[in-house]
Amino acid sequence: MPNTDYTPWYVSPKGKCQLSDFDTEPPTQGQLSGDELAAHLADMGEKLDKLQSTLHAAKTRGLLVVFQGMDTSGKDGVIRSVFTHVSPLGVRAEAFGVPTELESRHDFLWRIHAKAPARGEMVIFNRSHYEDVLVTRVRGVIDEETCQQRYGNILHFESLLHNAGISVLKCYLHISKSEQKKRLQARLDDPRKHWKLQPSDFDDRELWPQFNQAYEDALSATSTPESPWYVVPADSKPYRDSFVAGLIVQTLENMKLKPPKPSFNLSKVKLT
Ligand code: ADP
Repeated sequence: MPNTDYTPWYVSPKGKCQLSDFDTEPPTQGQLSGDELAAHLADMGEKLDKLQSTLHAAKTRGLLVVFQGMDTSGKDGVIRSVFTHVSPLGVRAEAFGVPTELESRHDFLWRIHAKAPARGEMVIFNRSHYEDVLVTRVRGVIDEETCQQRYGNILHFESLLHNAGISVLKCYLHISKSEQKKRLQARLDDPRKHWKLQPSDFDDRELWPQFNQAYEDALSATSTPESPWYVVPADSKPYRDSFVAGLIVQTLENMKLKPPKPSFNLSKVKLT
């Protein structure tokens, strides 16, 4: 992707995020062909692999990438495509479902903190602590006061990670309601994809405006320069993948990582 200025998709901490201000489609100007997007993704994948290797060696910084979005927005797909080139040793993916009985007796960040990256690690969250201010709010499990408290808890938690050298990059995969209809229909039409369908996918679709509102509020309350939210245009899968890969590469490059110096004098090594 020639466009490496991601600011138009950054959720500004000042003011209220309106998702309708963000396109779900790729920008028409400078649009790349399918082949060009695939080449860019491969290029970014290779860079990501090298950067991850330095992240691991340096052990000075860590990266947490959070993926959120409506059902079918492509959380699984983007993870599969973007991290294809990264060594399986170099990345850990964690998915968060409905909390277990034990998890729901703890504070909502307990299970999240346990899976957060250490310095040297890159971790991907497929859903996250944001479910605790999204689905729980829309379904009336928590009240407004609790939700506001949780925004504060999240800000503190992410700032704690930041102070420990862990960057948090948050991607909202933005699809249109009509694109979701196509994707749900494709799953209904393909028996191999029936396992992916849950009754909640159809119930949540009925609550689209409420989820939209919950996302707008959560993104506005928790996007910071240190732990930014980006609204990723996700109707086109190749564009989405290229965009996310480029954004992660840029985040790692900004860390200016350096491999550690050798712990002994290499000039004294004599290979026999
Ligand atoms: P996905 O829908 O991401 O493919 P699953 O089918 O396992 O994955 O669904 C995970 C479900 O768990 C989603 O419906 C999500 O809303 C729910 N979930 C995740 N975290 C929480 C939470 N903290 N509280 C309630 N529900 C949650």
